[in-house]
Amino acid sequence: MTSHVYLVRFRLTNSEENTQQKIQRLFDAAGFSHCISPGDLTAIKLHMGEQGNDRYLRPPLVRQMVEKIQEAGGLPFLTDTNTMYRYKRHNAVSHLHTAISNGFSYATIHAPVIIADGLTGNNEVRVPVTGKHFKSVRIAGDIVAAPSMVVLSHFKGHALSGFGGAIKNLAMGCSTPSGKRDQHQGMQARVIAERCIGCETCIPACPFSCISMDADGKASVDRDTCYGCAACLDICESDALGFDWGRDHHQFLERMVEYACGAVLGKEGKIGYMNFLMDITPGCDCNSYSDAPIVPDIGILASYDPVAIDQASLDLINNETGFSHTLLHSHHAPGEDKFAGLWNRTDGRYIIVYGEERGLGTSDYRLIEI
Ligand code: SF4
Ligand code: SF4
Repeated sequence: MTSHVYLVRFRLTNSEENTQQKIQRLFDAAGFSHCISPGDLTAIKLHMGEQGNDRYLRPPLVRQMVEKIQEAGGLPFLTDTNTMYRYKRHNAVSHLHTAISNGFSYATIHAPVIIADGLTGNNEVRVPVTGKHFKSVRIAGDIVAAPSMVVLSHFKGHALSGFGGAIKNLAMGCSTPSGKRDQHQGMQARVIAERCIGCETCIPACPFSCISMDADGKASVDRDTCYGCAACLDICESDALGFDWGRDHHQFLERMVEYACGAVLGKEGKIGYMNFLMDITPGCDCNSYSDAPIVPDIGILASYDPVAIDQASLDLINNETGFSHTLLHSHHAPGEDKFAGLWNRTDGRYIIVYGEERGLGTSDYRLIEI
């Protein structure tokens, strides 16, 4: 079966249509009003940015989605879940402070922000799945309760999963902190002692305080408390921290897919996906900083299929010429895998393969440019 993926490019063609108007046209072309019944509490699932990050989705673009859902008769609310690490989105109060300081207030968005897993991340529903790793997954209660959903994803690189798009937004983004831990289990950082220069930079970077220095002046990770968040990997300039990528990484991606399957359960035909191919940074919006984009802005995609939209996003990005003077150290030419040029230790494309295997969607898509 082939899934339709709609694309509107940022490049102006024969009109002066602005991006907000493009989003409205894309919503109509993809038929997203059909996934919203009158009176539906409709979740707009997005990442509102960590404090200090400035490449997350811009609030005026998100407001277009609010208006279209209201026009379709739905009652939209913006939502995300609490993080497992202790930065500025670890509980609903800090999360709301961060969202508001990043521009997501009722005054700008015209819809409330509701943190879907509650004050401390305990509002969860165990959703049954049939996977290799899980029999049930921990999805945020207010995401389960919403009868329809629009998933807005800023497509970018990711130190652990290779890239982040719709599937990751469902998997990590819709799970509670305990669910995020479930997905990270088995990923523990290892120190490559011969590369460690003992600079201690990684110690404060670990949100779980599990790095210390050993008697030889080398970093040491407490593997019993390490959650595999990869914050230390990003910070070590000596490349002395890593995972067992070959063994652990595929399993990590499989666990994410199984969580994504749980997030969509019961909402068949009631979820629309939009991927924003803009500000395509090397790392996640969970970082408290933003690195320079690696390819030009392309456009916005819409589909009912999370696998197809992620595959189309990857193909469009890989067809671009990569920017120099960025974290992209190789694979700049059109057709080369840009995320392999960033994180050569990870191959995020397996998430598409396993997503297809679990029936989350298909990588066989037809791109319809509007
Ligand atoms: S940041 Fe890297 S080099 Fe510095 S102590 Fe940590 S592991 Fe060693
Ligand atoms: S991956 Fe690194 S930063 Fe994350 S919990 Fe483990 S040691 Fe700490």
